[in-house]
Amino acid sequence: MALSQSDPIELTCEILVAGGGPAGVPCALAAARSGARVILVQDRPVLGGNASSEVRMHIVGANGTGRFDRGEALITEAREGGIIEEIRLENCVRNPQRSASMFDLILYDLCRREPNLTLMLNTSVVGAERESNANDAPILAVLADRPSTEERFRISAQTFIDCTGDGRLGFEAGASFMEGRESREQFGESLAQPVADSHRLGSTILLTARKHTHPMPFQAPDWARRFSREDLKLRLYATPGEEEPSHEYGYWWAEWGGTLDTIRDNEVIRDELVAVALGIWDHVKNGPPEERSLEESRKDPLEASHWALDWIGFLPGKRESRRFVGQHVLTEQDLMTSRSFPDAIAYGGWSIDLHPPQGVDAPDTEPCEQHPVPWLFDIPLSCCVSREVPNLMFAGRNLSATHVAFASTRVMATCAVVGQAVGTVAALGVRDRILPSAMASTQSFVEKAQRQLLADDSFLIGCDEKGRCPVVSGAQITSSGSQSDAPAIAVNSGQTRSVHGERGAPRGRELPGLHRWMSEGLAAWIRFDWERPQSFVGIQLIFDTGLHRHLTLSHHDGYTAAKMQWGRPQPETVRAYRVEGLSAENQMGEEAWQCLVEVDDNYQRLRRHFFTVPVSYRAIRIVVTGTNGLDHARICGVRFLAESVMEC
Ligand SMILES: Cc1cc2nc3c(=O)[nH]c(=O)nc-3n(C[C@H](O)[C@H](O)[C@H](O)COP(=O)(O)OP(=O)(O)OC[C@H]3O[C@@H](n4cnc5c(N)ncnc54)[C@H](O)[C@@H]3O)c2cc1C
Repeated sequence: MALSQSDPIELTCEILVAGGGPAGVPCALAAARSGARVILVQDRPVLGGNASSEVRMHIVGANGTGRFDRGEALITEAREGGIIEEIRLENCVRNPQRSASMFDLILYDLCRREPNLTLMLNTSVVGAERESNANDAPILAVLADRPSTEERFRISAQTFIDCTGDGRLGFEAGASFMEGRESREQFGESLAQPVADSHRLGSTILLTARKHTHPMPFQAPDWARRFSREDLKLRLYATPGEEEPSHEYGYWWAEWGGTLDTIRDNEVIRDELVAVALGIWDHVKNGPPEERSLEESRKDPLEASHWALDWIGFLPGKRESRRFVGQHVLTEQDLMTSRSFPDAIAYGGWSIDLHPPQGVDAPDTEPCEQHPVPWLFDIPLSCCVSREVPNLMFAGRNLSATHVAFASTRVMATCAVVGQAVGTVAALGVRDRILPSAMASTQSFVEKAQRQLLADDSFLIGCDEKGRCPVVSGAQITSSGSQSDAPAIAVNSGQTRSVHGERGAPRGRELPGLHRWMSEGLAAWIRFDWERPQSFVGIQLIFDTGLHRHLTLSHHDGYTAAKMQWGRPQPETVRAYRVEGLSAENQMGEEAWQCLVEVDDNYQRLRRHFFTVPVSYRAIRIVVTGTNGLDHARICGVRFLAESVMEC
């Protein structure tokens, strides 16, 4: 029987995540780690979306870059925590060679290792089934096709999360969405268009190149575009001394197609983008076409004679397609004023980064126009829940934001923290039997979700009380010695980073302080004593990983060398430590410590250690014997875990 006529294979889960890009992977991992049974459906053979080896964009986020860099050690630590930090640290240490494929593998490995997560690669969500035609009817199931095995699936779930970038799942379910650019009047945005139009940010095909020891020829096909010097006068490679001229990493500004429909016209756009990318490479290698007969052009003005094309993408990196209409639509003012949202679940901070939709066909317009966002800003849960479909959530570039606000929230680390938050919240919702549509207005649920997110190393602006561990609060905390402003009790300040700098958290919500214990020298210990023995099943530690610094896989050599400590653990991070429990005093009346955990090769920020059986101790001591560089220990957070991860 033909596939289209056969009954689909029935699958069931609690949470269905569609799309395994920068938003979808953390979303699915967070939901699975929070105890839900999750299926992640990804239409490509690899995970990572625009960050995957198929597209190769580097992940940036709230810490900004260049003129808008927010990072200041111990003052403004804006780099994202949680799952995206775990991925970045893993990638940094396990992928010193900066291989795009290694990054795919790291994401695949993380998903494959997660017992509650079923990963379906090469599988596309192509349809959605709702309970009825009513506007507020929930989704019952999605249909997904896997051409490689000629199979069709019907996957039912309680909550559906669209992280497809294009919003395919929500579109199939009939959820309302926005496309194009809104008018100034529509949301009162000064950066919006005077008149609304259907234009969006365009797509790009990247290329990477390598320098060889001898000249390497390049002959462009005759269908490649031809770019004159005038055409590229505002594009970065042509203005040496700018922040990022480079040959090895390609040209993010090789953008085109924003005046078309980036979904329906994707194949046309791909063909033109290949012609654009090769045309730029031809210009770089062989000089501007109008100068080729001139003596000057033989001098290799772009110093590209020894460079050769290594890889070119065939999948357009898509910046913008559909944006859903959620319970709240995030706007320019929300970002510019850092509006405080009671249902905040994530944060952003990248500038409002608008591009001309015409891309390279607008040679007289800068390829991007960046409007800095003064402080870090909240992203509320209500932007991630459909306005009408009660069990539809979303994360990533398709979340509920205007074109202008999206121009900031679209960066990948921001997509990732929203993804983690939505996955966590969805799992809590399944457990507590609360529909996504009711979550944001249920204060007790929101607070519970925020506590869980903070425990999982997400950062939420201005939360201290909710971030504290009650077991640590009940302890007397002492140490072998502390540096000034970094006492031992700071491991339970409720915030695990500093954001009090000028461009950090908005005034009044910045919670000044270092928010970590910093020892005097090494070895060092920090100790927790209780009046009565405390029982727990595990301990969680948050170490300093230099969140003021950049950390992203970039194929750009200069970017990596200038901004990062790549290929090794971050120097601030504790490398070797023991967790010990005080069981009793020995016959001499001396304290007898039992070793519960011993680690000598850590490079991660969040470490959770579970014991095989619950343990009970009157005191716990963490002994740090080595770091990855610093001469003292830094611990930003300590938690004692109750019966499960969900109850820490
Ligand atoms: C050229 C370019 C340059 C950029 N520069 C940067 C930069 O330097 N730094 C930065 O942080 N951001 C950058 N961005 C923005 C950023 O890449 C995106 O906003 C971000 O990737 C969005 O993440 P996402 O997970 O929402 O979507 P995507 O990255 O688009 O991922 C969506 C995933 O869903 C999958 N999918 C789609 N449809 C289906 C379906 N029907 N069924 C199953 N799976 C599906 C896709 O294969 C993909 O893996 C750039 C974007 C582009 C295109």
